[in-house]
Amino acid sequence: MRGAIPDWDLVVVGAGPAGSTAAIAALRADPSARVLVLDAADFPRDKVCGDGVAPHAMDVLAALGVGVAELAAGTTPVTTLRLLSPMGMQTRRSFARPACVIPRVLLDARLVHAARNAGAVIERHRVRTLSRQDGTVLVDGAVRARTVIGADGAESVVRRQCGAGAAPAGTIAVALRGYTSADPWPVGEQRLVMAAAHWPAYAWVFPVGDGTANVGYGELSRTTPTRAELTTRLHDLLPDLPALPLRGHRLPLSPGRPGVAHGRVLLAGDAASLINPLTGEGIYYAVLSGALAGAAAVTPDPARSYRRSLRHKLGRHLRHTDVLARLTRRPWLVDIATAAARDDRRTFDRLVEIGLGAGTLDVPLTTAMIAAAARHRNVP
Ligand SMILES: Cc1cc2nc3c(=O)[nH]c(=O)nc-3n(C[C@H](O)[C@H](O)[C@H](O)COP(=O)(O)OP(=O)(O)OC[C@H]3O[C@@H](n4cnc5c(N)ncnc54)[C@H](O)[C@@H]3O)c2cc1C
Repeated sequence: MRGAIPDWDLVVVGAGPAGSTAAIAALRADPSARVLVLDAADFPRDKVCGDGVAPHAMDVLAALGVGVAELAAGTTPVTTLRLLSPMGMQTRRSFARPACVIPRVLLDARLVHAARNAGAVIERHRVRTLSRQDGTVLVDGAVRARTVIGADGAESVVRRQCGAGAAPAGTIAVALRGYTSADPWPVGEQRLVMAAAHWPAYAWVFPVGDGTANVGYGELSRTTPTRAELTTRLHDLLPDLPALPLRGHRLPLSPGRPGVAHGRVLLAGDAASLINPLTGEGIYYAVLSGALAGAAAVTPDPARSYRRSLRHKLGRHLRHTDVLARLTRRPWLVDIATAAARDDRRTFDRLVEIGLGAGTLDVPLTTAMIAAAARHRNVP
């Protein structure tokens, strides 16, 4: 890092989807803000992910003036979802709105580019410490910021440094993923194959639309499965998959979320454990929380403003997914949900909203689930 560093209105730690979006949102709210983004990596860089991007994430970015067509360039929209439930129930339906599969090596570099264009300064630097001094935050004893946003992912240093506490046991999933030829699978169709063994667990096939597919397997387990075990489980669920290089990563799920605001330090994305516990979706939450944190950072009371806006956008949804994450520990409930989605298009859409967006377990969905349970009594 360079020697003499001026003061910054906002220092964002991490330039993934949460961090880049935070920088863009801060500059959109206050174009005169001095915004520095620090990332341990140079971009483009890979990030272990399924690369599935919900349309809801694109909505947040479009509202900030980011060109979403450019973000998705070179990929083909995904129009359908095929679900295989733990006990073998199947459904295949088209999404109400297509999703995208954008390799993170592309998506994140494009978002960093958008943040730089918006006026943020991006520097390569691995942050190690934060301290408070005279109402400001000192990053690594050298960079003084009015506000810091921790968007440094699943192993967040900022989260630890601001005393937010570690994610509780049982709220961190593990997953590995690789890329393979998309040939065996239909173009434009995402596939989720859920596993009764090691439940909650599933394998996925997400075709990028360029002849390749992102494939992977993840599970939520109290023990830590080895890479070999996870690889075997992936191949058990996708038997036609050839051997391929795989990389693993942890997913801090939202039932383990800490407080998101600590004085002048805000947490966004995976650093705030914002990953959907039912699907592993985290990019929408990352860009949404990043956008809200960035806008809040340039207000007189960032902590209050961020807490309030995040609660407004996601509070109800997160409470409902907390409950659903506990309920779906019983895999038969997921069989019922799959059957309900197969039987009724609106139920499918509502379930997708819960898994990929900010949907809630509302009365029509609860009623549809109860009716499906009655229709499919043979499900154990
Ligand atoms: C296998 C797998 C599959 C997934 N599939 C999907 C999917 O299909 N769809 C979906 O929506 N979500 C998926 N997720 C979740 C998604 O990847 C995350 O929720 C998302 O990346 C969160 O974005 P973020 O910006 O918070 O963090 P990240 O994307 O992890 O970015 C954090 C950034 O911080 C930087 N950083 C870390 N430490 C420091 C430091 N000390 N100093 C400076 N910089 C630092 C890193 O270099 C990185 O660039 C998946 C996750 C996994 C593991």
